[in-house]
Amino acid sequence: MVYVKGQKKSSPLVLRNSTVSQWFSCQKKFYWSQIRRLVPRNQEIISYLNDGSLTHEGLKVYHHPLNSRKLPEERLDLALEEIKKQASLSGGETDIAEKLLRGYMERYPSDTFKVISVEQKVSFPVCENILFRGTADMLVREGKDLVLYEHKTTGTLSSNLIIHYARSPQIMGYIYSLQQALKEDITYFVLNFLVKLKTPKFERYKYPINKAFLDTWRRWIERVGQDILTAMETDTWKENRYACFPFIGRECPYAPLCMHTEDTEKLISMLYTVRDSEEGGSNEL
Ligand code: SF4
Repeated sequence: MVYVKGQKKSSPLVLRNSTVSQWFSCQKKFYWSQIRRLVPRNQEIISYLNDGSLTHEGLKVYHHPLNSRKLPEERLDLALEEIKKQASLSGGETDIAEKLLRGYMERYPSDTFKVISVEQKVSFPVCENILFRGTADMLVREGKDLVLYEHKTTGTLSSNLIIHYARSPQIMGYIYSLQQALKEDITYFVLNFLVKLKTPKFERYKYPINKAFLDTWRRWIERVGQDILTAMETDTWKENRYACFPFIGRECPYAPLCMHTEDTEKLISMLYTVRDSEEGGSNEL
């Protein structure tokens, strides 16, 4: 039986899109972050919501089924109220998110779909004691079709970015998990881009679901799960030393643990705190 250090032996390991990506970046980073649950002390204070997160919060309210009978202007007011509340709690700025939400309502004043759920928690058992989890942005009914919308806030929109999302393991995982839970096929998914330009731009790209992509995702995530189980059982975590100090972005927050020969547990107690265990959402499928 494998288990996550610091948790009850029955607690499963939860994989999210970001943690799978972390596994491929560096297994040792995955170990510090997901198995030891270490959070650098200097990162705890960066908790404000960025433009993308605030925009997502606004879209959640704007499209929420409980608000479906309201006029778009009323829904926008509620969405703006929500992001201001969130920003005041977290210390973020709302200017860009507000501009995006106003432009979004003008661009799509009369969507014809019926929203079934927003921010729907999804979950799928990858293998024994490992779960894949995520949050699908919006599930809608268009005629008879079940359709997944994923909101993406970006500074620029390129063909590479579009294909990156269109084939992303994250979206394949959400669709696979949703189909398993709902016992119904999703007909297509829509990438709903909100582009942060001086004059914001809004684009939607629609893709039919290719069963082969879903099948290959399932086989792929099972192999990833098995590799993680093996690493846990043997306590062997490969270090990707090319990821420690990248050309772009910040250095790995666990560099002190990998680069120094001092007492590791002492360094941990000085530089990191231990995160609480993962909790499931109330509307989990
Ligand atoms: S410092 Fe380098 S080797 Fe260590 S966890 Fe980070 S990326 Fe991996």
